[in-house]
Amino acid sequence: MSIPSSGGGPSLAERLATVDGRIAEAAREADRDPALITRIVVTKFHPASLVRELAELGVRDMAENRQQELSAKRAELADHPALQGVRWHFVGQAQTNKTRQIRAAADAVHSVDRARLVTALDAAAPGAQGVLDVLLQVNLTDDPGRGGVAPAELEALAEQVAAASTLRLRGIMAVAPLDEAPRPAFARVRELSTRLRRIVPDADWISAGMTADFEDAIAEGATHLRIGSAITGNRPARG
Ligand SMILES: *Cc1c(COP(=O)(O)O)cnc(C)c1O
Repeated sequence: MSIPSSGGGPSLAERLATVDGRIAEAAREADRDPALITRIVVTKFHPASLVRELAELGVRDMAENRQQELSAKRAELADHPALQGVRWHFVGQAQTNKTRQIRAAADAVHSVDRARLVTALDAAAPGAQGVLDVLLQVNLTDDPGRGGVAPAELEALAEQVAAASTLRLRGIMAVAPLDEAPRPAFARVRELSTRLRRIVPDADWISAGMTADFEDAIAEGATHLRIGSAITGNRPARG
């Protein structure tokens, strides 16, 4: 049973199909296999019911940018069959005093950007068996307030993650700067990914590309797209 869209615009299923078509087309233009590109749907500020609908449409990767919202949605949807096997990505600013909750709720953390956070995430491991996927978020601007490690400090942070037994370094994450065309910025991310792989050869995820710029990200090698509003519609006001 599908839930009709309000206002007569395209339904959730139609928006998802449109975005997937654009991903396939951009991959084709870049001579890349679209099957090797993971489309993550960012569901922040939307209710758990929308996450459930997405899961019923076959979406297997969801992302949130606030720990409390991530934890609450996972708890609310824990028993829902369509959510089994869904991977949850945490893409927001991570606080060192919330690392236990982040580890409990996330399968991958894209926003690791400082040494203290690496230490805290490693220390928050639930037991010897748990390994958390992490990506290093790199800051593509000169503004330290934008979040992300400075490119010059990327290697040192990668070495620290590589040495942490409960963390697995998967790759790099970036958000395009606001005051620059996205394509050259994503080209820098691709170079930084090459540098990262000299330290951890299989850390080959490139998490880049949002609603406004995912085609540019695909052209520059992105493997994981974080797409929100193009699929979910406009976000409700922040609660
Ligand atoms: C919200 C968000 C996205 C998705 O943004 P859209 O422009 O809605 O696609 C991607 N990445 C991060 C880190 C976000 O916070």
